[in-house]
Amino acid sequence: MTTDQLLDRRKFYIDGGWVDPKSPHDHGVINPSTEEPCAVISFGSQEDTDAAVAAAKAAFWGWAETPKAERLEKLKALLEIYKSRRDDMAATISLEMGAPMNLAGTAQWGAGMMHLMDAINQVESFDFDQMLGEHAPNDRILREPVGVCAMITPWNWPMNQVILKVAFAAGAGCTMVLKPSEEAPLSSMLFAEMVHEAGFPPGVFNLVNGDGLGVGTQLSGHPDIDMVSFTGSTRAGTAITKNAADTVKRVALELGGKGANIIFDDADEMAVPRGTAHCFNNSGQSCNAPTRMLVQRGRYDEAVAAAKAVAEQTAVDIAQKEGGHIGPVVNAVQWGKIQDLIQKGIDEGATLVAGGVGRPEGHDKGYFVKPTVFADVTPDMTIAKQEIFGPVLSIMPFDTEDEALEIANDTSYGLTNYVQTTDNERAHRLARRLRSGMVEMNGQGRGMGAPFGGYGQSGIGREGGVWGLEEFLEVKSVSGWTE
Ligand code: NAD
Repeated sequence: MTTDQLLDRRKFYIDGGWVDPKSPHDHGVINPSTEEPCAVISFGSQEDTDAAVAAAKAAFWGWAETPKAERLEKLKALLEIYKSRRDDMAATISLEMGAPMNLAGTAQWGAGMMHLMDAINQVESFDFDQMLGEHAPNDRILREPVGVCAMITPWNWPMNQVILKVAFAAGAGCTMVLKPSEEAPLSSMLFAEMVHEAGFPPGVFNLVNGDGLGVGTQLSGHPDIDMVSFTGSTRAGTAITKNAADTVKRVALELGGKGANIIFDDADEMAVPRGTAHCFNNSGQSCNAPTRMLVQRGRYDEAVAAAKAVAEQTAVDIAQKEGGHIGPVVNAVQWGKIQDLIQKGIDEGATLVAGGVGRPEGHDKGYFVKPTVFADVTPDMTIAKQEIFGPVLSIMPFDTEDEALEIANDTSYGLTNYVQTTDNERAHRLARRLRSGMVEMNGQGRGMGAPFGGYGQSGIGREGGVWGLEEFLEVKSVSGWTE
């Protein structure tokens, strides 16, 4: 593709319109299935960031004081537009980050829709103005928008993460500047078009593209930003928190994970195939992926064989094709990192039962990774500790419940853990003793409105549900309030 055939997405969305960057700084967006550029965006400068923050600041009072019913009207309009542009959104996500069309049009697009619906429900039922209690009838508790928010998002589930932030912040009455991932900015730009069409007042939502060291850092340290809501790596979350400290911003962090999937001897038959497929979903690029499969000794050999079979049956192909295959990983850096970690697994003595280094057969281009399974992994190995963010499963044996718990909790992360057992009492014990923000049992996914977030180095705060709305609210205590 020549430069003039590339999608031109150089503009930013600031103060209700698409504007040129103050100074040119082109960046190519790569289609991970072909390694070819598919679009060109601009990285913003300090001036662009300042303009977006100023627009959000100027719009703040107007939006904060807009009655809840009107804010809801805009969110409902946005939901209808988002639903009607499903195909566009799926194609865009697929192009920029490599999710196969089937996944892009279902879970990837659908997560955004569900979060919009959830935000609408939460705002509708939330009481922003409450009496403290019968004992203090003149004390009022007001829940007010936290202010101007910066939102910094990753590429792996782009609409999931963007809408979890934007819909809840807008519902709370905040204004915002979004900096999507430079790897997957196109879906956010399409989303900005939808926000525009829904009729949000100018300045409520702004978008500036850029990388972490540029616009990301400008936002996290900006004196006129009140809160940073971040999803991404623990490394970037730490840098953002430090940079935000000088101005004492509220910081919400959704970071990485190294989920354990504990499979007991009495687990249902599908537990291993289900857990393996889940680990490979989205080519392993999910912070809540069940990447450490802990299997009780009695089922261990059977589990290794079943996981190997799933890996061998998992097709890998270009994202733009329909089908149940997995796509490439997002870019050359991630591909290289995954290759290094697979090699480390081999070097440190884990048993490679499927996959391995190199591209899968039939692909000499594109960031494709072989669905890989390691058995006999021990907790001290690098592949048991580090987040790989690729389709790589590590299987480890255990004998007792206490041992499984110890291995599962022996991580700096704490996002989602998984339990497979038909013993209800054991399931409840484990649900309470696992150190993670989420525990999913026996293949049952979480319902709409459930909070998402982690313990430890998986982050601070919760998104979604009433907790996700409260993230964007301040608490004001007023006394002497008479009717
Ligand atoms: P990343 O941290 O490199 O980038 C995420 C975003 O942060 C991008 O927009 C990037 O430009 C920006 N950024 C990077 N460094 C920054 C800095 N110093 N200051 C400000 N902004 C900065 O992560 P990624 O590679 O895009 O995403 C993968 C990681 O995200 C994985 O570790 C994954 O587990 C994590 N993740 C977590 C969740 C969750 O909800 N817990 C969800 C998705 C992804």
